[in-house]
Amino acid sequence: MPEVPPHLSASYLLEKSSFLTQKEIASLKAAGFSTYGDLIMHLPKRHEDRRSFDAFPAMPTIHAVCLRGMVIDARAMRFSSSYAAYEAVILNGAGGVFGSNKITCRWFNMPFLSKMLAAGHEVIVFGKVKDFKGKMVIDHPEFEIMRDDETESIHVGRIVPIYKNISGIAQRRLRDIMHFLLQRLDPASVVHAYDVASGRSRFDDLRAVHFPDSLEAAHAARRRFALEEFFILQLNVVWRRTRHLDHAGRVLGTKTTLLKAFYASLPFDLTHAQKRSIKEILADMRSPRPMNRLLQGDVGSGKTFVAMASMLLAIDSGCQAALMAPTQILAEQHYLTFQKWLSPLGMRISLRTGTREEQSHTMKEGRAQIIIGTHALLYDASAFPDLGFVVIDEQHKFGVSQRARLISHGVKPDVLVMTATPIPRTLTLTLYGDLDVSVLDERPANRGKVVTALRKDPKVSDITAFLKQHMQEGRQVYLVYPLVEESENIKAESATEAFEKWQKRLKPHRVALLHGKMSGEEKEQTMKAFREGETQALIATSVIEVGVDVPNANIMIIHHAERFGLAQLHQLRGRIGRGEHKSYCILLTDSKQPEALEKLQALVDSIDGFVIAEVDLRLRGPGDVLGTAQSGMADLKFADFLADPTLLREARSLADAVMAADPLLDNTHAALRPWIMDQLALTEPRD
Ligand code: ADP
Ligand code: MG
Repeated sequence: MPEVPPHLSASYLLEKSSFLTQKEIASLKAAGFSTYGDLIMHLPKRHEDRRSFDAFPAMPTIHAVCLRGMVIDARAMRFSSSYAAYEAVILNGAGGVFGSNKITCRWFNMPFLSKMLAAGHEVIVFGKVKDFKGKMVIDHPEFEIMRDDETESIHVGRIVPIYKNISGIAQRRLRDIMHFLLQRLDPASVVHAYDVASGRSRFDDLRAVHFPDSLEAAHAARRRFALEEFFILQLNVVWRRTRHLDHAGRVLGTKTTLLKAFYASLPFDLTHAQKRSIKEILADMRSPRPMNRLLQGDVGSGKTFVAMASMLLAIDSGCQAALMAPTQILAEQHYLTFQKWLSPLGMRISLRTGTREEQSHTMKEGRAQIIIGTHALLYDASAFPDLGFVVIDEQHKFGVSQRARLISHGVKPDVLVMTATPIPRTLTLTLYGDLDVSVLDERPANRGKVVTALRKDPKVSDITAFLKQHMQEGRQVYLVYPLVEESENIKAESATEAFEKWQKRLKPHRVALLHGKMSGEEKEQTMKAFREGETQALIATSVIEVGVDVPNANIMIIHHAERFGLAQLHQLRGRIGRGEHKSYCILLTDSKQPEALEKLQALVDSIDGFVIAEVDLRLRGPGDVLGTAQSGMADLKFADFLADPTLLREARSLADAVMAADPLLDNTHAALRPWIMDQLALTEPRD
């Protein structure tokens, strides 16, 4: 082995390595590593305690076992032309004692194994044991062939790391490389800014996570890396929150004349949850600090009315209020709703989207008090000369960075973010940790019951009869499909195909088609016709997921329901049950997948968005839930720890402590500055 400098830097490029072969360098680079520092951060996916091995089981096992033994027989088995297995029989290391248990390891369709593994090899195998016709077998075990060489002590007789495979590099070799790096790397070159905040040494934790003395030590070290990642997340969250609070806000909401007039004009009482939220918002508005609040609540829980009440409070204080919707359709729909409820109170409302501008009033009457638009409004500060209050209707398609952008506009309005995607409490801290939270956890009282049912292969004639019966009573229906058009790859009926069929089946009722490939204008026309009852059935894709509000529609049939996500199905179902009629959501599926059926059953069992969010979290794991909720979060390396509220809270309090000690990160914690993602807020002059 060539001479290697004793202290390698973590920034040392792999291609300059004299320790790795050219082939290895190519493999590592293909896997996305470029420096020694990158490589050492490839942490073990698990550890094996090879100080002692499990006894060879005579019975199937629930958990994976780790066995050490000798291959006494290995051969390729061929069952048919397309189905082959490689089998190795392994005998307990003690070897050959009468009655010792044998384990058969099987790998299907991996013919290259015959070149790797043969009788006489000493191996370590890891996997779950099952009973196959009286034989104890492990299918597709992880395995490692033992050799007699000087590095043996890295691989047995201790707790060893097992890494996620890197193509082209064997597990043993990878372990050798990591061991080598830990001896040669300069500890100072791997220091992370988190070290100062936590008082821990990253190098020590790297050593402990790769080659721990105990499984507890390995877990503690792994937890550190999760904490490090979450700390950075929370630091950004607390940073945004602090920056928002740096700015002076206005004192709004001291006058309540409009609010009282609004209450008096409503044909219903607000729910307790609505009143509580308005109170929380009002307290924020009256404080001289700018508000930054999240209003969470299921579709139909009455968020829009809370928004209207809050905006009226702002207007009563003499400023403008804006509402930003994620799509043009939604902006237009909000515009109609606001006109309906607030024009009678004399409010001047204007709609501004990319393609349409409209006013509820004439210029002579004065400037708009309420401006409704799409998120593009954010980039046009001139749209509102005197903005005091902003509602962002997020529908989970918005994001932290845009919010930050709004906040750094120079104007510091009070901000209310509305989301109809209830997310589990632990994730709220991560996604919306910079916001205070109000929750609408109560359905308005005048709602009809929503019945959800799961059906496999019902007769089309039964569905047709059911739909017709309700349409004859004057109701309207949604038929939802996962695809717009027919697809070669996916075996599922599309909305377009289904549209023609339903037109015939549902005669004389009028049927319309709505999907995302239609132009904004076409969509709006179609929605208008449905809203006004000109059409009775809407064949649609998930475009109706957000914002469509037709209280008279009380049936939704979702075809190939397994193809939608749980949160999405819940949103879809939120389109019905909005009026006083009893409503029906029928989920159709021919799936036999247990996960798919469990997902659909969750909808049958509950209509509470928070309950469903918890099930979604359990079924999909935090990484995926966050991934769809917000794109940036999908890259989390330690997403599995998101389910650990203790760890999240620990990360948060550490971030709080750091920001309290050094609010601008230009003093004791200046090393953390590069970790602030929102560089815009960094450079912005403070007022
Ligand atoms: P969200 O924005 O949360 O989806 P909305 O504010 O649009 O909900 O309200 C949904 C429907 O419920 C609307 O038709 C609205 O008129 C009605 N609504 C809202 N609050 C109440 C209430 N307190 N009592 C009765 N109906 C209400
Ligand atoms: Mg305020």
